[in-house]
Amino acid sequence: MRLTIVITKVSSHSPVPVGRFAPSPSGRMHLGNIFTALISWLSVRHAGGKWVLRIEDLDPQRSKMEFAKMIEDDLQWLGLVWDEGGTDEIGPNGPYSQSHRGEIYADAIRRVQATGYTYACTCSRADILATQAPHQSDGRVIYGGKCCPPHFPVRWDGVQSSYPHAVRLHVPDEEIVFDDTIYGVQRVNLVRECGDFILRRADGAWAYQLAVVVDDAMMGITEVVRGNDLLLSAAQQIYLYRLLGLTPPGFAHLPLVCNGAGRRLSKRDQSLSMEQLRARYTPGQLLGRLAYMANLVPEPSPCSLSELVSLFSWDCLPKVDKLIVDADNWK
Ligand code: GLU
Repeated sequence: MRLTIVITKVSSHSPVPVGRFAPSPSGRMHLGNIFTALISWLSVRHAGGKWVLRIEDLDPQRSKMEFAKMIEDDLQWLGLVWDEGGTDEIGPNGPYSQSHRGEIYADAIRRVQATGYTYACTCSRADILATQAPHQSDGRVIYGGKCCPPHFPVRWDGVQSSYPHAVRLHVPDEEIVFDDTIYGVQRVNLVRECGDFILRRADGAWAYQLAVVVDDAMMGITEVVRGNDLLLSAAQQIYLYRLLGLTPPGFAHLPLVCNGAGRRLSKRDQSLSMEQLRARYTPGQLLGRLAYMANLVPEPSPCSLSELVSLFSWDCLPKVDKLIVDADNWK
């Protein structure tokens, strides 16, 4: 199967751009999450588009409604209102919480299985993390292909394995090419970078990669904005779009917001959690600092969302790997 170049830059020419923020409700947001939310929001508002809030609660162990509510409260505090989605299920493309979209994913996986490029996988350990977005710092391994059949396409009859099995997607040994708005043209060989990947876990849980593609497509998303540790996922997703006969959105991966030690912010970086940030700053002060990080303003003084909407330009964003934020300088 040949994959041709897919031009997937966030385009200022889409008729009505639709962006989205897709947090996992497994904790309170931190500076990195709110930075992503702001840039995604500004990009669509600047172009007169719509913004969708999708709750990525595929992992039943880690996801909690109270965190989803806190995320909504933090977004609203900063003024980042959404047009569709959220826990109140506003809009025609719901449900907007992935935990309620099982039937939609079941239909999509049948369509992928019909291509003959999936197989039953009984390797048990590897599928645990499949419901979560594979941030590169999490150190995932490349699947070695133990359960991979010798030839493709294979006929999926649904009873290939009598044991509990994950559904794994075979990836092509060729480059998938896409044009990221920040980092430019990317060439990814999925065989080398990740190997065959999971679409549904053995326990029936849906994998992030399948859910995100199906949801972004059904919700009419034209631009995906998120941290650059999901660049590789864009290639996996473009491959899935292809198999499902869907058009991929544009992708803009942002420099990763890191702590003083150069590591992606996590729940442990308490001082940069929204709880602390809200205690320390007014929304205008925090916006000014976020806009300064994004290179939209020359200094970190307070500003308003409406000022930023008119100032916004993708050209300003720093094209670096990491934005190091030393919590002490943020006091
Ligand atoms: N739910 C993912 C996360 O919180 C977002 C992935 C995406 O934006 O595609 O990391």
